[in-house]
Amino acid sequence: MNNFVQPLSDEFKNIFFIEGEQNARYPYSHSFLIENYLIDTGISNKRVKKLKRLFQINHVLLSHWHEDHISGNGLLKGAEFYCHKDDKPAIEDIEKMFPYYNVQNTTAGEEFRKLLEIFGIENTHIDKTFEDNEIINIGEHLKLKVIHTPGHTAGHCGFYEIKTQIAFLGDIDLTRFPYYANIDSNLIDFEDSIEKLKDLDIKIVLTGHRDPIEGQDNIKEELDNFKSIILKRDERILENLSEKIPINAIDLKHKNLIYKRYNYENFEVISELVMIKKHFDKFIINGLIEPKENGFVLS
Ligand SMILES: [Zn+2]
Repeated sequence: MNNFVQPLSDEFKNIFFIEGEQNARYPYSHSFLIENYLIDTGISNKRVKKLKRLFQINHVLLSHWHEDHISGNGLLKGAEFYCHKDDKPAIEDIEKMFPYYNVQNTTAGEEFRKLLEIFGIENTHIDKTFEDNEIINIGEHLKLKVIHTPGHTAGHCGFYEIKTQIAFLGDIDLTRFPYYANIDSNLIDFEDSIEKLKDLDIKIVLTGHRDPIEGQDNIKEELDNFKSIILKRDERILENLSEKIPINAIDLKHKNLIYKRYNYENFEVISELVMIKKHFDKFIINGLIEPKENGFVLS
């Protein structure tokens, strides 16, 4: 009945992987529970209700502002909520998500509003913000370290429990689809964040959208694989640029350069264009492209 709650440590009985509904496929995500601290609430409202019957949850840490990680917040009103200061605005006022995703006044925006309504996603008051390297003491023995990993969102954070060496990396999710389609995403930061995580000795890694992965070597390899997907996208986009003809990101719209196929087409065509722009931003900084007339050419 409660097989979505899986213990992670023989020594510490109060650390659990909490599996999201539908194996955490969007719009669901996985959570991490340490004693009375829950990280992220997107497991499904039904599961949040069940979890509340099983455990006392006094503190909720949010990895970032995305709707699929905060959907259960409204069911945990007695708890204190924490996030990074850079992700606080869109969590406290979900209307801000629309310009963040660049979907205001679009069909995609209307569809997104329906999703927020169906899942009952509402504004959440943040009681405290946390910072990079902050240690949160939990119970007598456990120390949860905050790791600011910007890129996916500006305030995206992972968490590392020092004693057990278990980490929760949010949406540095080690799937086949790194996502950076908000205006507060940054591709160079995203890659730096992946590298930063490779310096940690992690025994078990949890993420928002994959099953737990064990073993330091495996985990480092998964982080490399995840980064390599971004580098392949670099190549695909660069192949569409020219040394002579100026091209803008908008010229590459709706060409499946990032999404092999569109599942939520209206939203994803916009997301893809925002992500292509993030690659352009990176190429400019790295000197791979330069402005010419009204567009960009290969340097
Ligand atoms: Zn996310």
